[in-house]
Amino acid sequence: MSVTPQQVLDRLAGVLSPRGVALTDADVLSEIAVNGDKVFFSINVEASDIRVWEDVRAQAEMAVRAIPGVSVAMVALTAERKPGSAASSPGSAQGIPNVSTHRSPPASGSPMARQADIPGVAAVIAVASGKGGVGKSTTALNLALGLRALGLRVGLLDADIYGPSIPRLTGIREKPQLTDDKKMVPIARFGLAIMSVGFLIEEERAMIWRGPMVTSAIRQMLRDVAWGELDVLVVDMPPGTGDAQLTLAQSVPLKGAVIISTPQDLSLIDARRGLAMFRQINVPVLGIVENMSFFQCPHCGSRSEIFGHGGARHEAERLGVPFLGEIPLHMLIRETSDSGHPVMESEPDGPHAAIYRAIAGRIRDQLQGATAAA
Ligand code: ADP
Repeated sequence: MSVTPQQVLDRLAGVLSPRGVALTDADVLSEIAVNGDKVFFSINVEASDIRVWEDVRAQAEMAVRAIPGVSVAMVALTAERKPGSAASSPGSAQGIPNVSTHRSPPASGSPMARQADIPGVAAVIAVASGKGGVGKSTTALNLALGLRALGLRVGLLDADIYGPSIPRLTGIREKPQLTDDKKMVPIARFGLAIMSVGFLIEEERAMIWRGPMVTSAIRQMLRDVAWGELDVLVVDMPPGTGDAQLTLAQSVPLKGAVIISTPQDLSLIDARRGLAMFRQINVPVLGIVENMSFFQCPHCGSRSEIFGHGGARHEAERLGVPFLGEIPLHMLIRETSDSGHPVMESEPDGPHAAIYRAIAGRIRDQLQGATAAA
C-alpha cells in the first residue's frame, strides 16, 4: 500500500524551519504529490532566504525517505515571493542600495549603440531571470555548452556578482592568470572560456558590492579579459529587474536576452518584468525557457506536473516572444550541476543534453534572425 500525503505531513511536522517552526506550520509547503513509492513536493521560500533553507530541504528529504514504503523523496527548494510582499531585487534583499543612475533609457535609439563592441566577440547574450533560485545559472552554463556542441566558440561570463555560482557549477577553483598587457585570461573548461567574479573574491564578499562598483566590475570583466575569438559570449546576469540589473544590462553590448522562468505564476510575473526591462533598453528578447517545467522521476522517467507546467509557453505566446523549450526538474541536473559536472558535459548523449542542445539551436537561430534584422 502506498504512503499517504498525511503520513508525509506527519513526518514533516518533526522537521523545523530555520526559525524553529514545524515545517507544516511554516506556510512553505506545496501540495504533497505521491506516486506509488515516490514522494515529491516543494518548499517555497523568499528568494533572499534560499541559502538558509538548504539544510531544511535536505532534512525534509531524509525524513520522508525514512518513511517505510518510500523509495524516492524529491524535495525542491523554490523561491517564490508571497503575493503582496514588496518587490525584492537581490540588491535590496541584501541591503544593497539600488543604483539610481541610468534609470531612464536614452531618449532615442539603443543604449547599446553607444557601447563599443568587445574585440573578437561576435555576439553577447544575457541569460536573465526575474528572481533567484529558478535555475538561471545552471541553465546558462548548460546552454553555453549546448551552443558549444553546435560548433560555436563560446564564452561564459558570470555577472551574478551578488552570488556567483559558476565556480561551484564548473568546479573551477583556480584564479585567472594575467597576460603581459594585464588582461585576465579566462579559465578554459569544458571547451568554454569562463570568467566569474567568484574566481577573484569569495562568494560571501560579493554581497557587499555597491551598484557603481558592480557596473565597473562587469565592464572590467568584459573588456579587461582576453576573451579571444568568440562567436557567442553568454552572460549569466544577476537575478531580478531592479535598477542594478538595468544598469548592468545597459553596460553590456547585448545582442539579445534569454529569460529563464519556472512554471509558477509568480515566477512568470517576475519573468514579465524581465521582458519589460529588456524591451525598455531595446534588447531583443530571444525567448523564454521554462526550467523545472515538470518533475521527471530519475528511476522510471514518469512525468509529474507538480508545479503547474506550461505556464511559460502560454505566457510567451501571449507576449509574442519565442518559447525556447522546457527543461524538466530532474535529480541528475541538480546533482551534476552542484558537483561541478554539468549534465551537458557529464552525459552528452543523455536526454537532458538533447533538450539543452535543442534550446541552444533555437537561440542560435533567434540570434541569427536578430542580427539579420539589425
Ligand atoms: P539561480 O541561478 O536561478 O539562482 P541555480 O542555477 O543556482 O539557480 O539553481 C538553483 C538550484 O536548482 C541548484 O541546486 C540547481 O542544481 C538546481 N536546478 C536548476 N535547474 C534544475 C533542474 N532543471 N532540475 C533539477 N534541479 C535544478
